[in-house]
Amino acid sequence: MKINWLKKQLKKRFDSPQKHNIAEVYDNEIASLEYFGYHNVYQMEIYLSQSEIVQYRHTGILSYPKKCCVCGKRNSTKKDINYKINLFRKYTVHHVPFCEEHKLKPTKEFIIYFGQLTEIIIKVLVISYSKEFILDLKRLNVETNPPMPWKAFPDLPPESSGWRQGDSEEWWHSQWRPYWDLLSSQERDNLIAAALPPEGWTEKLIVPKK
Ligand SMILES: [Zn+2]
Repeated sequence: MKINWLKKQLKKRFDSPQKHNIAEVYDNEIASLEYFGYHNVYQMEIYLSQSEIVQYRHTGILSYPKKCCVCGKRNSTKKDINYKINLFRKYTVHHVPFCEEHKLKPTKEFIIYFGQLTEIIIKVLVISYSKEFILDLKRLNVETNPPMPWKAFPDLPPESSGWRQGDSEEWWHSQWRPYWDLLSSQERDNLIAAALPPEGWTEKLIVPKK
């Protein structure tokens, strides 16, 4: 825990924007479902954007770690999982890795759900007994820094209340904010200069330090 904190502090100092490894920055977002009575079950929301989404759309398949999605042991086989949301809606997730033991059981011990939030943002909800599996899944699939907010949610102007509620708020706090906080003020200026923000965005992003 302390080592990770230290690494983050070092990152803050030495990295340039293109070197930030966003997958690592967000490792701490993994949540235990202990509170809800599920022992040793973990959950994380992974956001695919731009380049990752193109890859996903092309194949419909994420890159999976070479370990069982349930227990995290070395995987032996891949199978498609069918999920039922209700009577009318179901979906299939392809090529998910399993170990010998778990491939035989009905898949109630691993949940993965894709929600398309905007044209360039897909939220992937993952629930598993294996923390390692979830973290590796994120490392394998999320490589780029988050897109600028006006690109991620083009319908929301900077003053929109959407930044204080719903999926866009979640994205702002879990994806954008941690990334933005890592950048030096010089890096922020560079990013804004290169990104040509629509009206009002520079003011929203560059808040004078208290
Ligand atoms: Zn297993």
